[in-house]
Amino acid sequence: MSKPNLSLPAVEIREIRTGSITAYDGEAAALVSKAHSGTLKDTERSFQQCAGCAITKAACMTVLIQDAAVIEHGPVGCSTCLHEYNFTYLVNSGLRNVAEPLTRRVFSTNLREKDTVYGGLAKLEKTIREVKERTDANVIFVLSTCAAAIIGDDIESVCDQMEDELGIPIVPIVCEGFRSRVWTTGFDAAYHGIARKLINKPSVKNTDTINVINFWGSDRFSDWFAPFGCKPRYITPFSTLKDLNKASEAVATVQACSTLGSYLAAVLEQDFGVPEIETAPPYGIVQTDRWFRALGKLLGKEDIAEQVIKEKKEKYLPRIEELKEKLKGKTAYVTGGAAHGHALLSVLGELGINAVGASIFHHDALFDSGRLENDQLNQRVEDYGNVRNYRVCSKQEYELANSLGKLHPDILLSRHGGMTLWGAKYGIPSLLVGDEHYSMGYEGIIDYGERILETMENDEFVKNLQKHAINPYTKWWLMQRPDHFFDNKNINDKNAEGKVNG
Ligand code: SF4
Repeated sequence: MSKPNLSLPAVEIREIRTGSITAYDGEAAALVSKAHSGTLKDTERSFQQCAGCAITKAACMTVLIQDAAVIEHGPVGCSTCLHEYNFTYLVNSGLRNVAEPLTRRVFSTNLREKDTVYGGLAKLEKTIREVKERTDANVIFVLSTCAAAIIGDDIESVCDQMEDELGIPIVPIVCEGFRSRVWTTGFDAAYHGIARKLINKPSVKNTDTINVINFWGSDRFSDWFAPFGCKPRYITPFSTLKDLNKASEAVATVQACSTLGSYLAAVLEQDFGVPEIETAPPYGIVQTDRWFRALGKLLGKEDIAEQVIKEKKEKYLPRIEELKEKLKGKTAYVTGGAAHGHALLSVLGELGINAVGASIFHHDALFDSGRLENDQLNQRVEDYGNVRNYRVCSKQEYELANSLGKLHPDILLSRHGGMTLWGAKYGIPSLLVGDEHYSMGYEGIIDYGERILETMENDEFVKNLQKHAINPYTKWWLMQRPDHFFDNKNINDKNAEGKVNG
């Protein structure tokens, strides 16, 4: 595992930095133990249905910065899904009190075949100038693509030159898809560019401000930090250039998701002296207790942490017990990105629902902090027990369809929209909650538990859909084990039995 190095133009990819893998089939406990002992290995698939691209992750951490514009330097096709962040921005801006949410500013240099022969830098220069003129953005990000990388365009030099000309930061982000098969490298790439160019060395310390690295969830943290005399600075969605400049002045950094914030939190601690909370985000009661205690310790306010825990538990535990009673004996399957998927598995454990399996997109052997306490899957296993059919699926839907069909749980929990339809096709009630803060803390167990109950009780639509849905996969495929196309099936699972455990 290597430390963040801001003197390099590009972030080191997750496969090298954090030992991340994209294929696994076995038990969660065995995965954790392999990861912690440094023996976790990735394997190839001889068939792959789809792949994610780091550019979408880099875009999601830059497009949503209020006063930014983003240029994708490459063929226009690489930016075809970036407009989705406009929807995300407009829909969620109310949660963050953005007074006048502006339509997002996303552009492409639209490289054509001729440009791949003669180079695309002249186009990039012209585009940066035009974007500044049309948007008057305070900061412009330039995202690289495979085509630009293959022809060797020196994006950084053009950004530096245009920065001098226009007088605003122009930030190159090295995020072309082929650099890494772990597309969350795109988050790190965005943060690497932001840390190199936008975060200033601290001139003062704001003892009342805590950085919250997050996506676009509801504002839980203002209420949680208030008893400590602090307020959140949410980064990077809905932040401004000024917020990012001052991220180094905060008293601490916390994260909504360790997969998302691993790199930036480590950089803030290592290069800017902002300590990162020494535990994973607060999902599940046990972890929420740990989180408040770690926050209290960091701020030197342990007594306040104990008081908050006591008051919140008195208020919320009785309702949690009622929910547990109603959900007793139910089963669930989880699909999502790594750390948030682990968080949902903990929430299930807290509610007493049996997590029969999970298809999680990748796995980081260790986060950038190097702290085992940040490993949410480990916590899930220790606090609530093993998950027997735990898969790292790299978002291969054919594997999810296979595993889910065999286990047929009472509910499917998903973090990504495209995956819920598999539950619905099987007649399994499926729940998608885009707000990743929704299930956090003691109150989150109630909010999310009630949604689970509501989803299970209203299953008429999925039952009807199942009657009419056509499964595109053959019987042959559905009878194979889900890791059928792994080159090395037993590489990580000493207990592999060749079947999904029902
Ligand atoms: S993988 Fe490469 S070509 Fe494909 S969208 Fe990403 S940057 Fe573009």
